[in-house]
Amino acid sequence: MYTLIRAITLVLVTASLSLNSFADEVNIYSARKENLIKPLLDKFSAETGIKTNLITAKADKLLTRMVNEGRNTPADVFITTDAGRLYRAKQADLLQPIDSDFISKTVPAHLRDIDDLWVGLSQRARVIFYAKDRVKPEQLSSYEDLADPQWNKRICIRGSSNIYNQSLVASMISAKGEAETSKWVEGLVKNLARKPNGGDRDQIKAAAAGQCDIAVANTYYYANMLNNKKDVAQVQAAEKMAIFWPNQNGRGTHVNVSGAAISKHSKNRDNAVRLIEFLLSEESQDWYGKVNYEYPVLQGVAVNPLLKSWGDFKSDTLNLSRLGELNAEAVKIMDKAGWQ
Ligand code: FE
Repeated sequence: MYTLIRAITLVLVTASLSLNSFADEVNIYSARKENLIKPLLDKFSAETGIKTNLITAKADKLLTRMVNEGRNTPADVFITTDAGRLYRAKQADLLQPIDSDFISKTVPAHLRDIDDLWVGLSQRARVIFYAKDRVKPEQLSSYEDLADPQWNKRICIRGSSNIYNQSLVASMISAKGEAETSKWVEGLVKNLARKPNGGDRDQIKAAAAGQCDIAVANTYYYANMLNNKKDVAQVQAAEKMAIFWPNQNGRGTHVNVSGAAISKHSKNRDNAVRLIEFLLSEESQDWYGKVNYEYPVLQGVAVNPLLKSWGDFKSDTLNLSRLGELNAEAVKIMDKAGWQ
């Protein structure tokens, strides 16, 4: 009998152990493409023994899914680009605060949600690119200036449904107020060389091809084009263009982040915190620079040499939470101005 009890106990202990090890996992819903997150997750698993389960889809799809799954969601960590989208998750009450001393000590406050519901993982700047043969950098100064009549029919920028543009306009509302931003957007729309079409890369290509003289785009697209090993046309287009850092004499260039958050109904909260801290380690921060030409959110981490070659720039330190709060207002202003 005693042996039997021992045997049963052993079986139960083994079962609970294997259950524990099975539970040592973290589930990630990511709007970033698999190649921009999976290698880091694999490294995290190798270092910690925590299994990672990755689901990738468009941000809005993932958010809808989390809403529908409610309490039963398997999601622990939500990853997406743009503070405006992270704000949508916050507004939908899908998140819980990330409780981490490491994060509050190391990530600058303006790159985190004011209620610690999300944190930036990598930075990107939304800047002006100019055709080197047609525009001199001395002619450029600020985002505000893009509404000046001197740029009549000379600017390419993507559509207003794009969150990057919505966040740029939100940053203008924060800096200049609604009335001035409305005027600015109206002027900018008048200066467009063509109906908005395509993504950021397409704006750079269009300017290189002479359809416009100036393009607005995120920095990593330009770097990706310059380094494109498969499509020489992209390299050639990018080489015709140069980067200009707007608003250096004022609030600084508009920046945004890719970021991470913890699901409100996470069942693996500690692992989620650990994973986010790992994504903010020096090693991971360095990786974002190498693989996707993004800037680190941590100070002191080396910047990719190509990005470094563009020089230092002053970035707007507006708390990125504001981009979400002002998103609806931004969209309204863009619609009213006829930004397609
Ligand atoms: Fe992008």
